[in-house]
Amino acid sequence: MAVLNVEDLHTYFKTEHGIVPSVNGVSFEVKEGETLAIVGESGSGKSVTSLSIMGLIDAPGKVEKGSILFEGSDLTKIGKKEYRKLRGNEIAMIFQEPLTSLNPLFTIGNQLSESIKLHQKVDKKTARVKSVEMLRHVGIPRAEKVFNSYPHTLSGGMRQRVMIAMALSCNPKLLIADEPTTALDVTIQAQILELMKKLAKEHSTAILLITHDLGVVAEMADKVVVMYAGQVVEYTDVYTLFSNPKHPYTKGLLNSTPKFHEIEEELESIKGTVPTPTNMPKGCKFNPRCPFAMDVCTMNEPALNETSYDHKVRCWLYEEKEAVI
Ligand code: SF4
Ligand code: MG
Repeated sequence: MAVLNVEDLHTYFKTEHGIVPSVNGVSFEVKEGETLAIVGESGSGKSVTSLSIMGLIDAPGKVEKGSILFEGSDLTKIGKKEYRKLRGNEIAMIFQEPLTSLNPLFTIGNQLSESIKLHQKVDKKTARVKSVEMLRHVGIPRAEKVFNSYPHTLSGGMRQRVMIAMALSCNPKLLIADEPTTALDVTIQAQILELMKKLAKEHSTAILLITHDLGVVAEMADKVVVMYAGQVVEYTDVYTLFSNPKHPYTKGLLNSTPKFHEIEEELESIKGTVPTPTNMPKGCKFNPRCPFAMDVCTMNEPALNETSYDHKVRCWLYEEKEAVI
């Protein structure tokens, strides 16, 4: 069974220019022990999708339509209090900058053992022992010393390890990681991703990973959702996405990712920018940037279709019948 099943999610923001649909009909599922990555440029709606799932969209934003089934119950129907209980218990989160998620006034040990005491219902002494164990488990050397340290005295990589320890201390079913390694240098980034992967496997945690980085996707994901302008444009498993990308936007992203290129080859970046929600092009939202755009693309919007088994694509190139209308 899917741990998380997002169905036709619409998240809108009210602005002075009118209603802005940041997420416009997004669907996907994440199974136990599986990592699904949502990839896209900034402004694609990927972070708004994750915030919607976490119940962190506040006015003027609103989850307008659709369902978010977590272990079968619809999160769009629960109250703020219930949501708060769910976050940090069943659903854990890791963000880009751990300094802002850790309280600067308390030691690492204080914060970690408070979390363990609360979620695992153990006494203070046991929570302390478990905290130090947990710090070792996430690869922190001199765990005893770090236990007594304040967040600002640690490096970014160490703080992110602490955040992973915090996130996993409540044995979550789902871990949402929004650009978890973007602020870190490449070597540390690889270590943190490796660690997340290892721990998630050990605990069969489902991971929803939000990233703009296809290198991170290749490293971590089982399934991939490519988002563009608030919609899913391609959805398949990670092997298929890299070996047989279909959507022109996905191809563009791959062509602009250095990891997948010979050094001599010149990288192409995708021309143009993501359209703003108040200024969406007619037809396919990618048409102003697409090298394959046809007449139909500027008039009608393509649907997300299953072009082959478990491979969905939103593009007229794969919808011959309708494209000739
Ligand atoms: Fe390009 Fe047309 Fe496909 Fe859009 S529908 S991605 S414009 S070919
Ligand atoms: Mg973001």
